[in-house]
Amino acid sequence: MLSVSAVIEKVRAGDRVDADEALALYRHAPTPVLGQLADAIRRRKHPGGVVTYIIDRNVNYTNVCVAKCNFCAFYREVGSPEGYVLGFDELFRKIDETIAVGGVQLLLQGGHNPDLPLSWYEDLFRAVKERYPEFKLHALSPPEVVHLSRLSQLPVPTTIDRLIAAGLDSIPGGGAEILVDRVRKLLHCYGKATSDEWLDVMRHAHRAGLRTTATMMYGTLETDGERIEHMMRLRDLQDETGGFTAFITWSFQPDHTELGAEHALSEATGIDYLRTLAIARIVLDNFDNLQASWVTQGGKVGQLSLAYGANDMGSVMIEENVVRAAGASYCMDELEIVRNIEDAGFAAKRRNMHYELLGDPYYVGQPVPRMLELATAREAGDTRVPEELRLYPARSRAGKSEREQLQDGRLAGSQE
Ligand code: SF4
Repeated sequence: MLSVSAVIEKVRAGDRVDADEALALYRHAPTPVLGQLADAIRRRKHPGGVVTYIIDRNVNYTNVCVAKCNFCAFYREVGSPEGYVLGFDELFRKIDETIAVGGVQLLLQGGHNPDLPLSWYEDLFRAVKERYPEFKLHALSPPEVVHLSRLSQLPVPTTIDRLIAAGLDSIPGGGAEILVDRVRKLLHCYGKATSDEWLDVMRHAHRAGLRTTATMMYGTLETDGERIEHMMRLRDLQDETGGFTAFITWSFQPDHTELGAEHALSEATGIDYLRTLAIARIVLDNFDNLQASWVTQGGKVGQLSLAYGANDMGSVMIEENVVRAAGASYCMDELEIVRNIEDAGFAAKRRNMHYELLGDPYYVGQPVPRMLELATAREAGDTRVPEELRLYPARSRAGKSEREQLQDGRLAGSQE
């Protein structure tokens, strides 16, 4: 029988915990003790009293998806009248708006759309880099890379190399959910990427010189032990490659999802979030940075995260579509994020994806309009089909018909 106090002492001494020890702590350590342990590690890794954040924009280039994860309220089926693909011109406009408020990158993710071939991504990335050479593309989570590799019948490393050659700068850790295949099968996300496939994309990306993040979505059908197993798998890969910059965890948002309705799931509580964050800080001893997920937990719990192991407030974000579709709609602009950081007793600094400091808050140097609501991918009812899509072959029947209509001018493009 494991003694929790012995494990607490082990963590205090700076030693690594194994899965059983982590589970004992996670289940039985008092919440304030977990917080103190995590906070001590955060202080050891970040002694300067600085909490960072990034100004970027969370853009979802398409909501059309064949993966159909049962926890997702964002996707639309192929052929749905509510399906969209953003045009290159719309994305440029979003980048312009991002740069205007001090933003340095797009976090670009989307559905697994069978009608967007690899060449569409390559052309988009090249066009972005041509117009905005310094602007970064933090794009395509591992399941999207797997989808593209299958669609183009290319091995994953080749797919990654092609995306890098076109301008990909780093890969976001989305789509990890829980890296245990039993859970992935229950969430209908085993088909989009198994645990090993997710980890393999990251392994190849790290080998190719990219840095990436790692995530965990908890609060569905997993056990506590499976949350720990997820963290152990990330820790093992980080030991192997050292390529992860940060870990971000958030709770499943059940509204408007098949999974939430079928299992009558409620959202995990704030204490569950803080305990999960703290145990992640303890287990992931080889990760430098842990982000607070204020977009799912709200600003107040986001701020509390800074006492439970987080050293980063994540992103100013500007736009959000996925979490909003599942019912959460928190918004914090740069001023609000900085207010939360400073009120918790830290100095707030802007950073890039590599966690290099970029300086003091952007709004200090120039007037920046307040942002009291996050933008969406598109205004409701905007059904434009981008003109340039006619250049790319579609795979689905609906996509092929749309391309034919674009070619003979029966559909209005977005570049009028
Ligand atoms: S989570 Fe991603 S892959 Fe799964 S259905 Fe939603 S958009 Fe598709």
